[in-house]
Amino acid sequence: MHDIRWRAFWLGFLLVTVSLVVWAVVDEIAALLVFGVGVVLYLTTHLYWIHQLLQWFNKPDLATMPLGTGIWEDVFAAIYHQQRRYSRSQTQLSSALDRFRHAASALPDGVVLLNGHDLIEWCNPPAERHLGLSMKQDVGQPISYLVRSSDFISYLDSHDYTDPIKLKSWRLADTTLELQVIPFGVNQKLLISRDISQLEKVEHMRRDFIANVSHELRTPLTVVGGFLETLSDMDGAVPDSTRSYFDMMQEQTGRMRRLVEDLLTLSQLENSPTIPQDTEIDINALLSMVMNEARGLSNDRHTITLEADTTLNLTGALEELHSALGNLVSNAIRYTPTGGSIHISWKTRGTDGVFSVKDTGLGIEQQHIDRLTERFYRVDRSRSRETGGTGLGLSIVKHILTRHQARLDIESEFGKGSTFSAVFPKARLVHKANATSNQPAHTA
Ligand code: ADP
Repeated sequence: MHDIRWRAFWLGFLLVTVSLVVWAVVDEIAALLVFGVGVVLYLTTHLYWIHQLLQWFNKPDLATMPLGTGIWEDVFAAIYHQQRRYSRSQTQLSSALDRFRHAASALPDGVVLLNGHDLIEWCNPPAERHLGLSMKQDVGQPISYLVRSSDFISYLDSHDYTDPIKLKSWRLADTTLELQVIPFGVNQKLLISRDISQLEKVEHMRRDFIANVSHELRTPLTVVGGFLETLSDMDGAVPDSTRSYFDMMQEQTGRMRRLVEDLLTLSQLENSPTIPQDTEIDINALLSMVMNEARGLSNDRHTITLEADTTLNLTGALEELHSALGNLVSNAIRYTPTGGSIHISWKTRGTDGVFSVKDTGLGIEQQHIDRLTERFYRVDRSRSRETGGTGLGLSIVKHILTRHQARLDIESEFGKGSTFSAVFPKARLVHKANATSNQPAHTA
């Protein structure tokens, strides 16, 4: 730029000098003429190159770029370099895009790129296969017009994409798809589809196997248990010297029967995705059952108190909820030493309904808490066995609560006690009219 300005200055200086010399040698008219012609030539040159530049911009090709003269030589050279850099980065960009497209096409999972309005921007061949899309025809179409599943549409509208959803394919027989939306950029989304048919089959086989084995074991165990009990009750049938072996056999058969029953319960829960009946449950009746069982199990070894909002009912499957809430109470009794206390409560917290069991028992170290609902996870194996545990109780509780859109919250302090809370969403609560509120605490 600096250079161009100097050049313009020297050109102007030359013209003025020549004009002055002509004035001195000839006269002022001739000098004015020389000056005027010089200025007109100068402007005409500029106009010519501006026109050339505009012409070139209509069809910008590096091969046809004008060379220019004077200061225009510099201008064209600058544009040439700029254009070369631009076309080099364009080439790099488009080859990167091609590489990305090839890689995405080679993915076994379907990938659909959605814009802020859920319109399809791009998809790879597996997505075309899974979801029946066509990259040629469907770009710019709303995904909800093409994936016409109410579950998918409500998932897309929910804006909660933490977990994927499973869908039976409406196009491919015996195919189950897992769909997950991943938001990115400004309102953009990636829709990932995965064929999980094989996984589902294996999972189905595993569930069937456990259910069948448990079922097959139930009858022989009942027979063995029954005979052991009969023999044990018969006078003189069991010699005193072998009585302790008999007791051990009975205890172990009982444990195996409980295990088989718990495995069957889990299989039943897993094999039926929805609850069998969804009715309003009389919370008073349910709490009395739970309290009676707690008293029976505790056998006066603990102080058990109940505080319940009796105006608040719950909807769901009675048998399942009885099993889940009873399990939490029975755990509290089994893991609280004699003399400890257990407080059961049922009340609202915000919009949720919370059933909680607070004990002054052994407590659980923090590192175990997240794993308690895994099958057969026990903090202390011998303690669980001593108290007749199977290691499946909390797993069953979690399954039942999930089926009721509820969750299990666990708070515990090692050596001080634990609070297990079943938190039910607003949709599962029924506020009874004309009922007495806050029943006073009962003590057993
Ligand atoms: P288990 O049949 O062994 O009791 P659960 O699934 O019911 O199996 O519980 C898993 C583990 O969680 C138990 O083994 C026990 O260590 C721990 N646990 C459950 N409830 C309590 C509680 N109230 N206090 C202390 N530990 C508990």
